[in-house]
Amino acid sequence: MSEDKFDAIIVGGGLAGSVAGYILAKAGLEVVVIERGNYSGAKNMTGGRLYSHSLERIIPNFAEVAPVERKVTKERISLMTDQSATTVDYSSNKLGVKGKDSYVVLRGKFDRWLAEEAENQGAMFVYGICVDDLIIEDGKVNGVLAAGEEMRANAVILADGVNSLLAQKIGFKKELDAHEVAVGAKEVIRLDEKTICNRFNVKENEGLAWLFAGSCSGGNIGGGFLYTNKDSISLGIVATLGDIGKSEKSIPELLEDFKKHPVIQPLIAGGELEEYSAHLVPEGGYSTIPTLYKDGVLVVGDAANLVINIGYMVRGMDLAIESGKLAAETILKAKERNDFSQASLAHYQQELENSFVMKDLKHYKKFPTFMQNYRIFNEYPQMLDEIMEKMFMVDGSEPEKILSKAMKPAKKVGLLTILKDGYKGVKAL
Ligand SMILES: Cc1cc2nc3c(=O)[nH]c(=O)nc-3n(C[C@H](O)[C@H](O)[C@H](O)COP(=O)(O)OP(=O)(O)OC[C@H]3O[C@@H](n4cnc5c(N)ncnc54)[C@H](O)[C@@H]3O)c2cc1C
Repeated sequence: MSEDKFDAIIVGGGLAGSVAGYILAKAGLEVVVIERGNYSGAKNMTGGRLYSHSLERIIPNFAEVAPVERKVTKERISLMTDQSATTVDYSSNKLGVKGKDSYVVLRGKFDRWLAEEAENQGAMFVYGICVDDLIIEDGKVNGVLAAGEEMRANAVILADGVNSLLAQKIGFKKELDAHEVAVGAKEVIRLDEKTICNRFNVKENEGLAWLFAGSCSGGNIGGGFLYTNKDSISLGIVATLGDIGKSEKSIPELLEDFKKHPVIQPLIAGGELEEYSAHLVPEGGYSTIPTLYKDGVLVVGDAANLVINIGYMVRGMDLAIESGKLAAETILKAKERNDFSQASLAHYQQELENSFVMKDLKHYKKFPTFMQNYRIFNEYPQMLDEIMEKMFMVDGSEPEKILSKAMKPAKKVGLLTILKDGYKGVKAL
């Protein structure tokens, strides 16, 4: 380190921050990661599923050594009413094919492992300290203020998550808009390994990712999730902040109802609460991506709103990892030129645009608007419930043609409305 100046300071030791630290340290740069939690992952939460591709390119075969819970080989999506669930179930070994595989993770364990990998490369981690401010001189970020001390660096990476106060202070992003951010609450419920395999019909080390829409979020924009860990279940609810403010029920109440739902209750019966957590998640998508770089500073992961939620799939972790990598590679190039100016750091934005991060975010950019259709969370689950009930119930009354069984509930919503919503949904995807 020259004159007490680091090559880079990274604020936040989540996935984005640890990956950036890993790459910079591996290349021999002096890098410090400052994490406010007592260890990486202490304050972090996810539903559960990490798509492996981006981390696989950085740490090949990581799933063989990292504390992953189960490889996902079974997908379920359900539309729920208070009493029922209409479910699509897809099981296939193809889901586990290398490069396309995904793993259920618990952040307390996983982030800690990733931070240790970065430390093994030479990155320094400082825990239990919150970065309060940035040092800005002549318009350039030259370091951070933490615990009353100045720390200086050629570049600072903001990897401080969804509520990045530093990105707000520097004018990259506005205060969070309640309609562009959701709150999630999750319980980790302990069950033994064998019970999980039996209840979810999965093999050892293989698991299930299950997403729900409808009554579980109280008819608000949001949903529920269930992921199988090795010897526990991650069960949670997500709802947009803008909605939850007006909702009759709070998030903890919705989660309690979800646990009592007739489809869920038998699956968690006998389980013991091991962990409870809550966290925000950016949901605004592409149109809410803030300024990503300026003189001496870059922003990555959730701090840059790099999250995709398309109902049946939530992705933030693989985007956080990729953006952390691209920011670190940009700093490596800047170091070669000894130029950390805005023009030099523009490379980060170019690389992000060329990567799956921006391509996927752009691809799904209309989805957040589509999700503001409350019929998805109310009328459609109800309609499916009525159709299924008519299809499967036999009570001796006069038989009805299948089309007419489906038409009555569909007409309640409106056939044109269904067509329009379907068209919009397909276009948004
Ligand atoms: C309920 C829920 C379900 C989700 N489900 C999925 C899923 O199934 N799959 C998926 O891919 N993504 C999912 N996500 C999104 C995913 O969890 C995030 O996109 C991901 O965690 C972002 O990583 P990150 O490193 O950018 O931020 P974070 O993981 O939030 O890390 C930020 C770090 O910065 C630290 N920090 C913050 N401020 C400071 C400061 N001032 N000083 C020092 N340290 C600071 C924090 O303590 C934290 O460790 C979900 C999110 C939620 C909330």
